Amino acid sequence: MSLKKHCNIPIFIPQLACPHQCVFCNQEKISNTFSIPKPNDISNIIDNYLNTIGDGVEINIAFFGGSFTGIPKDEMINYLKVAHSYVESGKVQGIRISTKPDYISDAILDILAQYGVTAIELGAQSTNDKVLLKSGRGHKFDAIEKAAQLIRNRNMELGLQMMLGLPYDTLELSIQTAKDIVRLKADTTRIYPTVVVKDTALERMYKKGDYQVLSLEEAVKWSKEVLKIFNEAGVKVLRVGLHPSDELEFGKSLVAGPIHPSFKEMVLTDLWFDLLSNKNIHKGKSMISVAKNQLNYAIGYQGKNRSFLQENGYDIKFIANNLLKDFEMDVCYN
Ligand code: SF4
Repeated sequence: MSLKKHCNIPIFIPQLACPHQCVFCNQEKISNTFSIPKPNDISNIIDNYLNTIGDGVEINIAFFGGSFTGIPKDEMINYLKVAHSYVESGKVQGIRISTKPDYISDAILDILAQYGVTAIELGAQSTNDKVLLKSGRGHKFDAIEKAAQLIRNRNMELGLQMMLGLPYDTLELSIQTAKDIVRLKADTTRIYPTVVVKDTALERMYKKGDYQVLSLEEAVKWSKEVLKIFNEAGVKVLRVGLHPSDELEFGKSLVAGPIHPSFKEMVLTDLWFDLLSNKNIHKGKSMISVAKNQLNYAIGYQGKNRSFLQENGYDIKFIANNLLKDFEMDVCYN
């Protein structure tokens, strides 16, 4: 088992003049809020990060923020040339990019492979054609399938990100999206509940009553259900939920939506609640061991699971056992 630490050097390149009109996206806001580094600037960004990273860490340069392969080809190559020089010198081990499924083709992949791109994350968002249409994504599921296959053919790491609660989405359709992501053999995923951002088509739909945003409780439940599917299939989940940020705050850009600083913890608390409920633990005294990194989640956000068990006649002590894998548990009766 490799215990090597990983670190991404993030380079945020918001995509200007994106021809799409995803209903949840406020491109103007993104473009006005973040300055776009020129290809020449990114050496400075990378060098600054490298100065702070210790030895023995696997480092990737990660271009994210927009659809990297949708920016003009010459500009994209200029960014890649700078990043690739760090791969060639051995200072970093790989390059990650994020993009839209319909911006992937064999010709694009030729360029990405030539400049050492090792991982591609696609914003799949949903695999349901009607959800994609209502969300203004500009393509159907077949574009996601095709792009995923092309990336797999190159043996690059494939990420397929999904959103929950887009227009027309249901829990069943989100579960189907997660199953499709597994079927398309994604290595990684990210799970983002949809939020309503100011000055978007989704805001107009929301205000007219044509769109209902997920409540925090619903978003936690939906995230838990898709997380179970990814865990079972061994798809690495890189992120669950959105965090409030300076911009994404109620009263600023955020109009409505399930955002919470402890969102992931709440999802894992619910997942552990299901695991504990299904375990058939006897009432009275017992000791439950879980992996160290799962201890807080098993006990629950604000001790929710432990309190529930105590109130129902269980006297449980949770302890860490590093021999256990995530979501495994051992029960001992005293
Ligand atoms: S593809 Fe959609 S989400 Fe991405 S920048 Fe364009 S409009 Fe926004």
